[in-house]
Amino acid sequence: MTSWTTTVLLFALIATASHLYLSYRQRRHVLSRRNAVPTTFADSINLPAHQKAADYTASRLQLDNISQLWGLALLLLWTVGGGLQWLDGITSSAGLPGQAGGVLFMLAFFMISHLLELPVDVYRTFSIEARFGFNQMTGQLYLGDMVKQLLLMALIASPLLWALLALMQSAGTLWWLYGWMLWSGFMLLMIWAYPTFIAPLFNRFEPLEEGPVKSRIEALLRRCGFHSNGLYVMDGSRRSRHGNAYFTGLGKAKRIVFFDTLLKQLDGEETEAVLAHELGHFHHGHVKKQLMITLVLSLAGFALLGWLATQPWFYSGLGISEPSNHAALTLFLLIMPVFTFVLTPVMNLFSRRNEFEADAYAVANSNGRALISSLVKMYEDNASTLTPDPLYSAWHDSHPPAPIRITHLQQCMEKSGK
Ligand SMILES: [Zn+2]
Repeated sequence: MTSWTTTVLLFALIATASHLYLSYRQRRHVLSRRNAVPTTFADSINLPAHQKAADYTASRLQLDNISQLWGLALLLLWTVGGGLQWLDGITSSAGLPGQAGGVLFMLAFFMISHLLELPVDVYRTFSIEARFGFNQMTGQLYLGDMVKQLLLMALIASPLLWALLALMQSAGTLWWLYGWMLWSGFMLLMIWAYPTFIAPLFNRFEPLEEGPVKSRIEALLRRCGFHSNGLYVMDGSRRSRHGNAYFTGLGKAKRIVFFDTLLKQLDGEETEAVLAHELGHFHHGHVKKQLMITLVLSLAGFALLGWLATQPWFYSGLGISEPSNHAALTLFLLIMPVFTFVLTPVMNLFSRRNEFEADAYAVANSNGRALISSLVKMYEDNASTLTPDPLYSAWHDSHPPAPIRITHLQQCMEKSGK
């Protein structure tokens, strides 16, 4: 075993072990508080709902642990277990010219990986989500989604992979810089294309009905000086009872999308408050900042790949006897998460800070009390735990834990005298 092999295995073990440890802490913390609703929520959430959230959290953690261990096993099988080497032998025997062989190899790798991870997702959807009353998906819809996703993946990934492999082949030592430019352009294209072309393949989007809710929202948008390309309602209830609201697109092509499930849960004032929170993200430029961070990190990733791809040990230490551009790209995608998992808490810290800023904006421009009541409804309807373990939450949560978020909102309201 080379020292490179040892390094990757060691980091993979550390990543998995930390994941399992945090998950153990979260499970213990949540279940030990299962029989008492925290005082902040004593008036708004009853004991059965609180217990349901605890059981739902515990079930999801258990499946997540299995998924982590399975992911580790797959990583080992693909690399030191010789999986990639085996796949390379099969796809190269097709004798495709130029970059086509590399594209075929990578598509086959993505498809097989997807199928191997499928059982976990099927169990999550049809066992856990169904048991807690969230799943609305039929087997037929699930299968249809999967076929569409795989076809779409092949359609979108093929030209991108072809271009990347061609750059690696013939653009010289700075290929990674051009590769990064191509990748960045592709990401921006997807941000534009997703709401317009891809999301409608999976869901129906209808303009928000005229009425009191719409006039409220339009008044809020005017008050905040915000221009959007439309207000839409998405039939999220086709797949799940979980509710949500989001923005998509950049610049003038921004759209506001409400899940139909959310509009059913909240009244007009609460819907307005949730939207005011989302506007806060735009006001503070969170979306652009997040995009910039992603672009900078991917530049670092491409530079690293540019160097790794020229090192023979990068391949031989991970079960590949014959270096190739497609093997470099695939290996890199496969092992990167083992090292980048330490970035998770940093990114989430940043994200939670953004949530506080957006909440403060919502209090200033809308009704803080309505935002609190909408959050409480969403915690209850989504069976989110109100009692997360602090360490688990610091690592994994992109949103502040419920009690801290509500306390912060109350402080914002006091400060502004509302
Ligand atoms: Zn937010």
